[in-house]
Amino acid sequence: MKNQTNPFKNAIDQLEKAGKIAELDQNFLDRMKTPDRYIEVSIPVTMDNGSQHIFQGFRSQHNNSCGPYKGGIRFHHDVNLDEVRALSFWMTFKCAVVNVPFGGGKGGVIVDPKILSEKEIENISRGYIKKMYPVLGPEMDVPAPDVNTGEKIMGYMLDEYEKITGKKAPATFTGKAIANGGSEGRMEATGFGGGVVVREIINTGLISVGATVAIQGFGNVATYFAESVIKQGLKVVALSDSKGGVYNENGIDLALALAHKKNTGTLSGLAGTKNITNAELLLLSVDILVPSALENVLTSENAEQISAKIIVEMANGPTTPESDEIFAKNGVIVIPDILANSGGVATSYFEWYQNMNSEKWQREDVLKKLDDLMVSAWNNIVVIKEKYKTTLRNAAYILASERIEEADKIKH
Ligand code: GLU
Repeated sequence: MKNQTNPFKNAIDQLEKAGKIAELDQNFLDRMKTPDRYIEVSIPVTMDNGSQHIFQGFRSQHNNSCGPYKGGIRFHHDVNLDEVRALSFWMTFKCAVVNVPFGGGKGGVIVDPKILSEKEIENISRGYIKKMYPVLGPEMDVPAPDVNTGEKIMGYMLDEYEKITGKKAPATFTGKAIANGGSEGRMEATGFGGGVVVREIINTGLISVGATVAIQGFGNVATYFAESVIKQGLKVVALSDSKGGVYNENGIDLALALAHKKNTGTLSGLAGTKNITNAELLLLSVDILVPSALENVLTSENAEQISAKIIVEMANGPTTPESDEIFAKNGVIVIPDILANSGGVATSYFEWYQNMNSEKWQREDVLKKLDDLMVSAWNNIVVIKEKYKTTLRNAAYILASERIEEADKIKH
């Protein structure tokens, strides 16, 4: 069987499947198959040694029927146009699943930030905005952090945007530091939102307190997800970063893992754990497997060997359509990315809203509102899943498609 690793093809495949099940309008489905537009820019940067390096940047604006284009910007050496298009497509559906008034966008720069200085990263961030600013804005396209980007980079980008346009416009970017107009609760929102979904699964009786969890990843999303499920009494037995993972069948101490990573730059060698590879982590005998890094890690090559009962997709696009079929056949429940990790963009909406209305909300209020949105998305999806006797992914696509189609209709 050929492995499908083009994320954009995979994204379309997911929509087509749901489209068949719910007999969605073919014209609508066809419109969703191409982003409204994508932009590719060159970013010349003076490096610390005085030489010039030209970086390549992308922004894909998939659909804005429900609101301004919305989605992160990632810095990664493997970024490419098909990946950014797929990620922008998933944003359109993710925003509709969690019912926030945004469309879908995504950006990226081909760069490995781990080998650059802070100044070089700042120059790339500002350079990206120098080229992209005409297509961004609070009511046009609102970027946010993604893989290897965070509040500092959003700060550079906002500052550059405001310098060029000559206006204060904090709602142009979300995921900012609180001091720069960021929202309380945004930092932990994606992981927290995934934790809300896990709580709902526990409530259905599918898993119980004490269940074991393996998490592939140790970035912002994975860390707050781990914190949230540990608080609920689940046992995180494995974690990993890009270099490899660590395992302890009795559970990993999250605070120790964070301190070890901070001191040594890696998870490997964490006291009381056994080093494992990222590939081994996926095959561990656990109740819940959580891909929380990059796309295409669950494929036809390893899907048959996955022993987890439940997969919670905190990464975008970790499961190929072929492996999705294997999971459905084997009774493995997949909580799709467009639901599981939608807490990030939902809270970006709260941040955008506060900026647009000059408000500042308390952390408890933000997390309560987020909790309500996640529960409502989960409940809606479960109803559709029952109605069509289908997977949670298909149900999530059907729910989102109905909402997007309704908003998109008027344009055609
Ligand atoms: N990058 C995150 C995602 O993939 C957040 C996007 C946002 O907040 O706009 O959902």
